[in-house]
Amino acid sequence: MKRQVIVVGAGPAGSSAAFYCAKRGLDVLLVDKETWPRDKVCGDGWLPSLKPIFDDMGIYEEMKAQNTVSGGEYFILASPNEEVVTYRLGTHENGEKDESKGEMLIVPRRIGDDIVRRAAVRAGAEFIENFNVTELIIKRGRVCGIRGYLRNHFVEYEADAVVIANGSHSMLARQLGIFNEDPSLSMFAARGYFTNLPPELKPGTVLQFYLPESIPNYEKARKTMSFGWISAHDKPGCGTLGMVIPIETIEALDMSLEEIFNWYVNYSKNGQRFFKGAKLVDELKGWRLVGCTEVQKNYAHGALVIGDACSQPECAHFYGIPAGMISGKIAAAVLDDIFTTGDDSEESFARFHKIVSDRLNPQYKFYSTFRELVHFNIDNVNKMNEFAKTFPGIPSYTEVMYKFVTQVLGKEMPTPPAAGARLSQ
Ligand SMILES: Cc1cc2nc3c(=O)[nH]c(=O)nc-3n(C[C@H](O)[C@H](O)[C@H](O)COP(=O)(O)OP(=O)(O)OC[C@H]3O[C@@H](n4cnc5c(N)ncnc54)[C@H](O)[C@@H]3O)c2cc1C
Repeated sequence: MKRQVIVVGAGPAGSSAAFYCAKRGLDVLLVDKETWPRDKVCGDGWLPSLKPIFDDMGIYEEMKAQNTVSGGEYFILASPNEEVVTYRLGTHENGEKDESKGEMLIVPRRIGDDIVRRAAVRAGAEFIENFNVTELIIKRGRVCGIRGYLRNHFVEYEADAVVIANGSHSMLARQLGIFNEDPSLSMFAARGYFTNLPPELKPGTVLQFYLPESIPNYEKARKTMSFGWISAHDKPGCGTLGMVIPIETIEALDMSLEEIFNWYVNYSKNGQRFFKGAKLVDELKGWRLVGCTEVQKNYAHGALVIGDACSQPECAHFYGIPAGMISGKIAAAVLDDIFTTGDDSEESFARFHKIVSDRLNPQYKFYSTFRELVHFNIDNVNKMNEFAKTFPGIPSYTEVMYKFVTQVLGKEMPTPPAAGARLSQ
């Protein structure tokens, strides 16, 4: 049977697209190759900027109930020279509490993604799991369906439009010639769950650590961003670790990501301080990620590409999920417009690129400016730490980034978004 819209991939991006398509009364089929709920390697951070989407979906309270890190108040930055600064988050510079900031949620992806997916189904999207889409059906240059294996049976489905949301390294996007990679942003990323963390990592604390200058071969690696972060859960001693190491750094150090982490834990001052006795649950999981600094081509005639499928992860700043979900919402609006006007020319699909660029590029610009000036010039991380000590309280980490770059480095940077940033946004 021909469908109006088929969304491939039920992660946050795809489920958001399916939700908003269904809300607009479109006939939408959402498919995913996994059996749900499924896990996804991630730092599990859901930014405050997602709240309006959660409200549309009616899931904010449900997400909040699954938050493993409530009342997060402290942000510890461990810089390359192993200096440590603790910011009090959510406070004005005069030290007063700032209640206007939204809350960042740390919800395991296995749980959070399923809540979002179920919202799409409640809104009217049909969902099929264990459907591995292997190829787009393209006729006369226009995407008009999918083919693949539904529980090992070969199937084909036709559609007026396909939304590709099947995550990083998408072969479907590549079939359309859509694959973007900025070599300086190619990274290995990993996640680990820990128990037995030291009491110093009080529940709700986020520790962000940089590669210490004492690591062998640091001189070769020092110009590249390298760091990890751990969010300490409400359950004492438990926490989620995320790590992002550029491939350039891996090559310069000649160590695997796991070896780098083990070196940090065993030989660095802060590694011993924050991870001594900590136990890794299961293993570090992760893979190679590609990234880019601005929205790249994300459409073809008959198809829109959203989320990691078009190489837009900003996981270093917790922006991967918002970028995907916002793009999903925009995709639904563009498709609705195409069906309403009856103009399904390639130009109509191309409008998607402009709208997503206008919406996301200022955010990407903010991060890439910071990355260029601070992460890629690691001495500045040490300086930023010094600067942060002069603050009695910090409304958000974004504020620290912004003020450091503009006031200390004297460089221009796009203004950080006004609303809802607790950690970074
Ligand atoms: C270590 C790490 C830490 C991160 N931390 C954060 C963070 O704290 N906050 C944040 O916002 N972002 C973070 N990110 C980025 C974030 O995980 C991604 O940007 C986000 O998951 C993208 O969502 P998505 O829906 O595009 O893709 P995904 O979440 O990857 O979902 C894609 C879906 O497509 C399905 N699929 C794949 N192939 C097929 C196929 N052929 N047929 C059918 N289905 C298919 C998959 O099963 C999957 O369910 C992190 C990433 C990493 C690696």
